[in-house]
Amino acid sequence: MSIFKIIYWVGIIIEMAIRAPLRKTWKESAKSEQRISATEKVLLGLLALAMFIVPLIYSVTNWLDFANYRLPPSLGWFGAFLLVCALFVFARAHIDLKSNWSPTLEIFANHTLVTNGIYHYIRHPMYASQWLWVIAQILLLQNWLAGPIDLLVFIPFYFLRVQAEEKMMLDRFGDQYRDYMQKTGGIVPKF
Ligand code: SAH
Repeated sequence: MSIFKIIYWVGIIIEMAIRAPLRKTWKESAKSEQRISATEKVLLGLLALAMFIVPLIYSVTNWLDFANYRLPPSLGWFGAFLLVCALFVFARAHIDLKSNWSPTLEIFANHTLVTNGIYHYIRHPMYASQWLWVIAQILLLQNWLAGPIDLLVFIPFYFLRVQAEEKMMLDRFGDQYRDYMQKTGGIVPKF
């Protein structure tokens, strides 16, 4: 297996380890509202396919080799750098969001609006991390099927999710979230 495939899978394991404690808390916490559309369910399934299943097939079989491409090693290493940045942002966001995290759009009985830590600068650090990840994936998994697929699925997911999430947060937190939106950027800090 090439070094870039190994780096990709180490990244996956680190993401799973970062998320595991919050996934456990999420399962046990009382939810007061859930908003998930049929389109989002389909896109979440496609994201799993694009991030795990197709990369796994590409990494452990030679079935997809016909679609390989070859980039200069420096671009592969740049992909590794982006992956590390994605993991840092991902970790920071989990530390700050704590038990308010949810894989879908949910409001918990004891939900609080987080505006500190990385959320002081951007409203969507987890999605910012995912943008870095999908670009890194193209550079690390050098195959037309396993590389760009995640970006293609993430683009519609991101726009749909952010719109629905901000609407839900405005419905729940009103002016508090409106003020917060004015002071922060979505995935890039506002200066
Ligand atoms: N968009 C954020 C969070 C993704 S997790 C990010 O990219 O980091 C999605 C859940 O986070 C949603 O169910 C929502 O209830 C919750 N959430 C999003 N922003 C929040 C905030 N600032 N404070 C508390 N909860 C938030």
